Amino acid sequence: MLGAFGGGAWAQSKHIVIAAGTVLDGRGHVTHNTRVVIEGGKIVAIDPKAGPVNYDLRGRTLMPGWIDAHVHITWSFGKDGKNINQGGTTQDAAYAAASNAWLTLMAGFTTVQSVGSAADFPLRDAIAKGLLPGPRILTSGEALMGQGEKTGTPDEIRGYVRRQKDAGADVIKIFASGGNIGAGVTLSQDQLNAACDEAKKQGLRTLVHAYGEAVRAAVMGGCTEVEHGLGASDDDLKLMAEKGTYFDPQAGLLIETYLEFKDNYAGSPFFPANAQVLATGVKEILPKNHDLMRRAVKTPGLKIVFGTDAVAGAHGRNAVEFIDRVRDGGVEPMAAMISANSLAAEAMGMADRIGSIAPGLEADLIAVDGNPIEDITAVRRVVFVMKGGVVYKNSAADALH
Ligand SMILES: [Zn+2]
Repeated sequence: MLGAFGGGAWAQSKHIVIAAGTVLDGRGHVTHNTRVVIEGGKIVAIDPKAGPVNYDLRGRTLMPGWIDAHVHITWSFGKDGKNINQGGTTQDAAYAAASNAWLTLMAGFTTVQSVGSAADFPLRDAIAKGLLPGPRILTSGEALMGQGEKTGTPDEIRGYVRRQKDAGADVIKIFASGGNIGAGVTLSQDQLNAACDEAKKQGLRTLVHAYGEAVRAAVMGGCTEVEHGLGASDDDLKLMAEKGTYFDPQAGLLIETYLEFKDNYAGSPFFPANAQVLATGVKEILPKNHDLMRRAVKTPGLKIVFGTDAVAGAHGRNAVEFIDRVRDGGVEPMAAMISANSLAAEAMGMADRIGSIAPGLEADLIAVDGNPIEDITAVRRVVFVMKGGVVYKNSAADALH
């Protein structure tokens, strides 16, 4: 019996051969005119002589499906057009979340880490069962919101982390500072240490929203990854590199989304009521983002992962962040690709499953029209998407021969 799991429309073919003109392996290597062989949803060989060819992508660049380390996949605009963050529990909100997942997959992202909403769980599970098309989702569920003493004692925080694990969290998201630059630290060092240490004991990673002094605190607390990081000094960045802490700063997509959808965001929680005030406020953040990215790139050994912080309006446009990073953040195109492939997989503890084109790994493969190493805007032209050996998009064929 086929059943709903892996049967029907998303069934995997037994043996698939993809011919590609250029292959980026996700680890920094480039190969030309070769073929990737897939069996049972896994990559089994890279062999220029393999055949017969099922997908002819000779005019394209093939690479591992992208990984976005920081999204809010269920966040959407409500019926009135206003941003509802994770607040939506209606059927409209559920369909909007499913749509976000679809758009994200079509844009070439085969895995995302969604941080901050319990609504992610059912979406994650539906996609994992093959009931809905979407990227593989890892989620934190609700975040640990730092609120000073009120957050609880270190022991209470350890209890919270264990409960999140029981609820099905793949990762623990922690707010160690306020939402704005200069908003101050919201967890003491002892509280943060307890959260990250307990997560480690439970076999979970920790993603810490941190601005200013919270950056150093997260690194000292042995947390896995620092998100955003505005206000980090060069010494903080150096310390992060020394301790092997992953860093996920943003270069533009988030702010560009707020600007484009300022009327939708104005008046929603945490945003000013006036759209112009909102626009003026967020515009001031952009040059700070660029400066931080540039300093991060210059920090030897710092592991910069790709995370967009995609919110309502940004889903399916995640790849714009690549362009921002390269154009405004001083990131080399190859480094940008690796940051969303093997490095992002490593940061998620999934390097043996995703993020590279190598035998034994999941057949998560995408192709773009053009070559992003030569022209980063090619990331907007995703023509082929395969996840776990299943093809979800193939608009490449018509332009060939
Ligand atoms: Zn976020």
